[in-house]
Amino acid sequence: MKNIGILTSGGDAPGMNATIRAAVRTAHVNGLTVYGIERGYQGLIDGQVKPMGPRDVSGVINKGGTILRTARCEAFRESEGRRQAVQTLAHHGIEGLIVIGGDGSYRGAHDLHTEHGIPCIGVPGTIDNDIGGTEYTIGYDTALNTALDAIDKIRDTADSHDRLFFIEVMGRNSGYLAMMCGVAGGAEAVLVPEYPPDYDALIASLRNGAALGKRSAIVVVAEGAGTAMEAARIVSERSAFTDSRVVVIGHLQRGGVPTAFDRILASRLGYAAVNALLEGEADKMTAWEGKEVLLRPLSTAWEHKTRFHESMGCLAQTLAS
Ligand code: ADP
Repeated sequence: MKNIGILTSGGDAPGMNATIRAAVRTAHVNGLTVYGIERGYQGLIDGQVKPMGPRDVSGVINKGGTILRTARCEAFRESEGRRQAVQTLAHHGIEGLIVIGGDGSYRGAHDLHTEHGIPCIGVPGTIDNDIGGTEYTIGYDTALNTALDAIDKIRDTADSHDRLFFIEVMGRNSGYLAMMCGVAGGAEAVLVPEYPPDYDALIASLRNGAALGKRSAIVVVAEGAGTAMEAARIVSERSAFTDSRVVVIGHLQRGGVPTAFDRILASRLGYAAVNALLEGEADKMTAWEGKEVLLRPLSTAWEHKTRFHESMGCLAQTLAS
């Protein structure tokens, strides 16, 4: 193998740049030429490809976002889109591909390998930490700390005004990030998409907290659990908690300087992805488990999605007493 491609796809996550840096430099040391593909699969279809050397990734280890930019690409879901992408790969002589993204991006990589035999290695990059087969995804730790910083600040004003706050964090299909925000931020309650929201139970627990002397409360809501605005409205309609405030942390969680943990994870997984291609691996993802870097089939990502441990809900509730 002489030429490899690298792209970032789906939602951006802090630490993607550290992954690109690690892959480009590992490839260079091993005599490979790296082509950076801009805007994910869309750029692969459109031919947005540029060679990248070690100096092209200087000063990016501490930068959020992705220097290759990212996109969502409907055309790549169809075999015709993937056929166009393969033409771009052939044009540049790219023999293997590193895909940094979430499980949607992995599905695309899996199809590319199945239909056209292109060796693809996935690197888990998403703030949701919901990819199966790896304990952590690149970007999750940074996003968690960003959300926590916001929650801590909101707690200051909530305490000062004896207020109830609903804080919405990202997580369309996964409540992992929200649950950990709730536990680490000392929230009074957490609403996640994994369970249907039980507003009567929420109100009962808020009342109980007030009876036990709590003057302020924070409810963390994963966006997929029905939005913080909706939760505030329903609670206000059904109870005396009518003067709540809503904060949507939103895309703030996507950006920012990656934490040390994410930089190290990104460096190790980016390095491992290039070595996997050099060793002739295909249709695999790099994963982190118990301090070890492993390779797992790409399909692990969507077949065994990571969920928060079922005890976490009980833990959050107990510690909010
Ligand atoms: P993530 O990778 O973060 O899960 P998405 O689910 O948006 O993000 O997927 C990113 C891109 O991967 C999509 O825009 C599409 O190009 C490709 N993709 C997603 N799902 C599939 C699929 N089932 N088959 C082929 N390509 C897919």
